[in-house]
Amino acid sequence: MQSTKFKARTVLVTGAASGIGAKIAEHFGLLGATVAIVDLNNVVLEAKKNELLAKGINALAYCADISNYESCKKAYDYFYNEIGFIDTLINNAGISPKHDGKPYKIWDLPPEEWNTVVNVNLNGTFNFIRILVPEMINNKFGKIINTSSVAAHAFLPIVSCHYSATKAAITGLTRHLAGELGPFNINVNAVAPGRIETPMVTAVGEEVNSTFITDTPLGRLGTPQEVADVIEFLASDQSHFVTGQVIDVSGGWLMR
Ligand code: NAP
Repeated sequence: MQSTKFKARTVLVTGAASGIGAKIAEHFGLLGATVAIVDLNNVVLEAKKNELLAKGINALAYCADISNYESCKKAYDYFYNEIGFIDTLINNAGISPKHDGKPYKIWDLPPEEWNTVVNVNLNGTFNFIRILVPEMINNKFGKIINTSSVAAHAFLPIVSCHYSATKAAITGLTRHLAGELGPFNINVNAVAPGRIETPMVTAVGEEVNSTFITDTPLGRLGTPQEVADVIEFLASDQSHFVTGQVIDVSGGWLMR
């Protein structure tokens, strides 16, 4: 059912063709926002845009590689021409490469894979922030929500060190930018999902996920909707005095 809670708002979501990002885009669209979606695969992205349009959502799509600044700038120029100021940025896209369902230990990790993960997860988070912030400053309003992970806070053997390192760097980036951008009325926060049912997670198999569930007080995996709900709060008028925070959405997997 359509709501008007975010009717006056424009929201850019990266990695919106699949998993958590797809749910976030739909969620904000159903709350009345105009949603600008970005992803790597044009065919899948266009299909997602058409799905959103069919639900009555005002959606625009642009195929871009978040690890490439110029590619992000082209996406932004397209969106800006179409819809003007984008007040909310949800940096969701991220990768956690696996090999036969398993992560590399550091002694096997190819340096080029380290670079790829840094480029996508960390540089990809920086790029759209760098591009959108000047207009947010001009408008004295902005909400930036980044995506960290519980792997940023504790050893998670199902991912490689590049993933944990980049997700920890995202929490540092979030807190630093909350300090720099607070005076311009721009909130910068992050979510740190635990185990959420998406293609990234189902790829590693049943056994890994059941171990995770055993260590989760709420006794199950999370859903993309539950991440979208927390992001809704961080993008809403109800969180104007919340900034520099990293909120775990993990069923209590780790209590800090
Ligand atoms: P997902 O299902 O794999 O979706 C990620 C999306 O991002 C995919 O559509 C992917 O496209 C896209 N993408 C990858 N690289 C990109 C790039 N360079 N430029 C633009 N788009 C790109 O992942 P997810 O599980 O929804 O995860 C979403 C975010 O939550 C990630 O940041 C992830 O690290 C974080 N997270 C997830 C979990 C979890 O349990 N699922 C837990 C903690 C944190 P392709 O499919 O074409 O590669």
